Amino acid sequence: MITHLHGDHFGGLVNEHNEAAFPNANVYVNAVERAYWVDDVKNEAVIDALNLYDGRVKLFNFGDEVLTGVKAIDASGHTPGHTAFEVCNEVLIVGDIMHFPEIQLPLPEISVKYDVDPDQARESRKKILDYAAEKNFTIAGMHITPPGIYKIKKAGLNKTGYEKF
Ligand SMILES: [Zn+2]
Repeated sequence: MITHLHGDHFGGLVNEHNEAAFPNANVYVNAVERAYWVDDVKNEAVIDALNLYDGRVKLFNFGDEVLTGVKAIDASGHTPGHTAFEVCNEVLIVGDIMHFPEIQLPLPEISVKYDVDPDQARESRKKILDYAAEKNFTIAGMHITPPGIYKIKKAGLNKTGYEKF
């Protein structure tokens, strides 16, 4: 399951011989995300990687249950089909809604240059962080400081944003 098609998130699909690194795997990709990188941007690295999994690329939409117990949540903005995965009502894999949580947890309005649509990314970040705090989910993210997994809550009095705990 791919949160989005930036190189540091799908690159592991291809091995050093330019073959499928996981020859028996299905690859689950948001339909909007695939269309953006393949049809609109025509990113060759994305096209080549997905072609290695021809017939095993499974498209999904926001709101779908991608696999049993795994729901695709709209986290778009960082990329058009950027997806968070809610796993078994306990864990939220947040992808790249944050790159610098030490800054973006207390100040979630700050976007980064990697966000395709910074305004939409800001709204998604706030929405996803609100959702995680409200549901008491553990969040996991690829650019979250080690251990890369924790819970968050709304920040206390006289503070903004969120705190991890
Ligand atoms: Zn990214």
